[in-house]
Amino acid sequence: MRIVLIGAPGAGKGVYAQYFREKYCIPQISTGDIFRDEIARGTELGRRVKYYVEKGLLVPDEIVIEVVKKRLQQQDTQRGFILDGFPRTLVQAKALDEITSIDRAIHLKVSEEIAVKRLSGRRICPVCNRVYNVYYEPKPRVNEKCDYDGARLIQREDDKPEVVRQRYSVFYETIKPVIEYYYETRRLIEVNADMSFREILPVLEKTLINTGVLKLAPCKDVKIE
Ligand code: ADP
Repeated sequence: MRIVLIGAPGAGKGVYAQYFREKYCIPQISTGDIFRDEIARGTELGRRVKYYVEKGLLVPDEIVIEVVKKRLQQQDTQRGFILDGFPRTLVQAKALDEITSIDRAIHLKVSEEIAVKRLSGRRICPVCNRVYNVYYEPKPRVNEKCDYDGARLIQREDDKPEVVRQRYSVFYETIKPVIEYYYETRRLIEVNADMSFREILPVLEKTLINTGVLKLAPCKDVKIE
């Protein structure tokens, strides 16, 4: 199962990726995570990408493509993988097709209103880093206070509604040609990610099985909570 996961901030990409990763024991390859890790470890690659990542700019295509190519050569990708955050440009999407064959691109389509609600509702405890949401579970028991240490919850700067709107529109401006590319090459699956993942995940999983994309036996019994 060789899959690309496309989702705007607030689409719930993490939940979907985690489900398939755990249930089918295939790696989730996130270019953002790879870069953050390289930067934290102060590697040569980390030094090359630091400037872009810290400014929220796209890392040049040549660098990202090289990183993904190397990662896909590792043994753990044999049974399949989920690409998360890559490709982000048409050049990357075409380069990826030279590296390997991608079965499907799954576009978790979320509306701006829902994305704003999900992300602007997110609150974090500055003491223990627990994550809450004022609109969805887990909600704090007492308004704006952490259940565990009573600390006043904070909102991440980039979760403020106006910043979320900005992140959302920038995402769709840049990803549009990539989505079109997978549509034209008949590999696009669109999912209504405004709905709860509890309803969507089983449908998506069945679709992948019925179209022959997902042939792996589960390696673990994972419940959709
Ligand atoms: P975000 O969704 O906020 O962009 P990511 O974790 O996906 O977060 O990526 C963090 C940063 O890593 C991006 O802002 C960008 O600088 C870099 N990056 C990740 N993936 C790519 C990619 N496919 N192409 C170019 N830059 C990338």
